[in-house]
Amino acid sequence: AKKAGRNKFAYFEPQMDQRLQQMRALELDIKQALEKNQFKLAFQPIVDAEDQSVASFECLVRWTHPTNGKMMPAKFIPAAEETGQIMEIGRWVTKEAIKTAAAWPVRKQISVNFSAVQFQDSRFADFLRRQLKRYNFPADLLELEITETAFIVDMENSLKQLQQLKDLGVKISLDDFGTGYSSLSQLQRFSFNKIKIDGSFVRDLETNPSSAAVATAVAEIGKALDITVVAECVETQEQLDFLRSVGVTRIQGYFTGRPMDAEAAEALLIKEAPA
Ligand code: C2E
Ligand code: CA
Ligand code: CA
Ligand code: CA
Repeated sequence: AKKAGRNKFAYFEPQMDQRLQQMRALELDIKQALEKNQFKLAFQPIVDAEDQSVASFECLVRWTHPTNGKMMPAKFIPAAEETGQIMEIGRWVTKEAIKTAAAWPVRKQISVNFSAVQFQDSRFADFLRRQLKRYNFPADLLELEITETAFIVDMENSLKQLQQLKDLGVKISLDDFGTGYSSLSQLQRFSFNKIKIDGSFVRDLETNPSSAAVATAVAEIGKALDITVVAECVETQEQLDFLRSVGVTRIQGYFTGRPMDAEAAEALLIKEAPA
């Protein structure tokens, strides 16, 4: 047993070490990215399920590392949450999104992702209020997307802070709905403006009856509580048709529009605007 224990130790330790080193390197890279302005925003249209006109844009962070190339948010966002750097990234994303949308000739709603870790940024509400004022952007055109897991650690405190943000006039949506825990009780505790059905339920709509059932149930909840329901990761006409048929009113996904740069998003709005 002792020998096995030693082997185990010898096997795991270098790996742990490697992970720590990778994390540290990434932390330094993120620090540089913030200092050297390497982050950019991509804007993905969220469209009306009926006529596919643009209802809003979700602003997604993008990062091209000078030597390693494109970095995926799914990788560096969790790392930034671990180091706390997400607080600075979150402020940058929020400011950049407001600044960009404020300069468009067509007023349009935008949303940004708000990480649970950002609840530790006790001055975020103040920051947000100042940015809205600075760019003269209407608060009700900004939405914060919050995932269910944001409420795990300290539900009471999170709800309190969320209410402070909502009191500024911004909208709050519940992201990745259905993947977290106690989704339904959260809907009861806070009045969200939108629910976003997680992409995992959309992906296999046609092949997995339980995913179709979940999507249908969420659409029903939305109707009952009078909350707009968005489906994300919609990639096919069939998915769109099904979602629309069960009462989902907003669609986001590669089928109706990929994330694009600010200029392309602005061009899309101008093209759509009535002459
Ligand atoms: P999310 O908030 O659920 O964002 C949707 C993700 O799905 C985006 O990935 C988007 O590009 C992708 N997507 C959209 N339509 C489709 C589709 O039809 N098919 C497929 N396969 N994917 C689609 P992205 O930009 O790589 O972001 C991944 C996650 O990283 C986001 O998931 C969000 O949790 C996080 N993230 C991205 N930007 C930010 C940010 O600025 N702040 C924070 N806190 N998190 C962010
Ligand atoms: Ca989101
Ligand atoms: Ca999502
Ligand atoms: Ca997600």
